[in-house]
Order: sequence, then C-alpha cells, then structure tokens
Amino acid sequence: MAKIVILTFDVEHDCPPFAETKEGMKKGLPRIMKLLEEFGIRGTFLFTGRIAEEFPELAERAGKKHELGCHGLEHERFDRLSYEEARQRLMEAKAILSRFGDVISFRAPNFQFPDEYYRILAELGFRVDSSKAKHKGWKSGITEISGILEVPATTTSIITRLPWGLQERFHRGFESPIIYIFHPWEFVRMPRTLRPDCWFGTGEGALEKLRKLIEFHLNSGARFLTLREFYEEYQKLKRE
Ligand SMILES: [Zn+2]
Repeated sequence: MAKIVILTFDVEHDCPPFAETKEGMKKGLPRIMKLLEEFGIRGTFLFTGRIAEEFPELAERAGKKHELGCHGLEHERFDRLSYEEARQRLMEAKAILSRFGDVISFRAPNFQFPDEYYRILAELGFRVDSSKAKHKGWKSGITEISGILEVPATTTSIITRLPWGLQERFHRGFESPIIYIFHPWEFVRMPRTLRPDCWFGTGEGALEKLRKLIEFHLNSGARFLTLREFYEEYQKLKRE
C-alpha cells in the first residue's frame, strides 16, 4: 500500500514564545505555499486566529488552495486555561478562521491539550486533531477522543531541519500515515540570540530540504493528503 504523507504547518509568529517577530509570515509562508503549489500538493495550514487576522490574504490562500485549520487564538497553552476560558478562545479563533474557509482540523500549541477539552472541539464543529505526538510520549496511534479523530504527529521539526543526508533514513522508516510538522519561521534564518531549537537549520536551505522530502515521497509512490482528506477517507473506510 502506498504510504500516506500529510504536511502540516503550524502558522504562528516566529518561534513562540521566544520571539515576537513575524518574518516567517512575511517571507517563509509565501515560499512554502508556492513550492507546494508547484508540485500540485495541498498542505494543512493550522493558523492561530490572530495571525489570520493580521495576514488575511495568506489565510484566504490556505482556505482556497490548501486546507485551513486552527492552532489556537494567540498560541496559548490550553493546559494552563480553565475549560470555560479554553472554550471562549477556541470559539473566537474558529469564528475568525471561518471567514477564510471551512475549518475542521486543530492542533494545540506545544502539543498541550487536555483530553477533557476534546468535547469543546466537537461542540465547535472540529472533526480532527493532531495535538498528540509520538515524540511527546503518545503510544496509541490513531484513535478517537470525544468524537474527534486523533491523528498524532509523527516527528518533530528538528528532524526535517537536519542535513538531508542525515534525515533520509528517518523518512524511509516512518510508518504511514506520516504527519510532518513545519513552521513558517523555519524557512527564514532565525537569529542566534534565540534558543538553539529556534534557529538550528532555519533559513532558505529549509525550503530545499522540503523540496527533497516531497520528491523523496513522490518517488516512492506516496500519496499526499490534507488532514481533512485523511479524515474523510478514514470515515469512508469505517463505513465500508
Ligand atoms: Zn505552535
């Protein structure tokens, strides 16, 4: 069976909470979208509500040519919020993002989202989540939590910033579906005054590595899906 690859992008200001700049939005995200569109591949772009308000043309492009999803309102840590506050913020984020597209996919900032809050996602019309991660200790694979399909992330974005010769064997070994995570700020050079994981491997070379990654999977016959498309296929298989 062909492997399934899902390219997801957490669309936020630069390396939160360690920087306040938005170079990734100004330069990185347009480069990413252009590359994917050249290949005819659709990505899943999970915007914070605030960044969508500030960069409406990019949110609109995500909604039209790709999949637009949600990454919180202002990159808050949901595990530090009460149920009601989490609900208010998610409601506001959903309302903003819905101006640009139909939003059913979610990923919490920092992979921090309490299981009991999945009910909020269901209530607000989300259908699929990718807030769990294998590198954060999640063992169960794909599952359902309060009616939301949980599709855990496969790997951190540190792997995809390694020199290509070092990362290739990881891609070969990943089990399908492979859910990658990228950020717009990785595609511009981040200053070395930030933490190493904020600047390591960032810059224009990141775009070349993303191109290599796409070509690698295309050559091995993989299928590229958005989170929404994966959700829809999964539901169909379940019915059959
Ligand atoms: Zn984030």
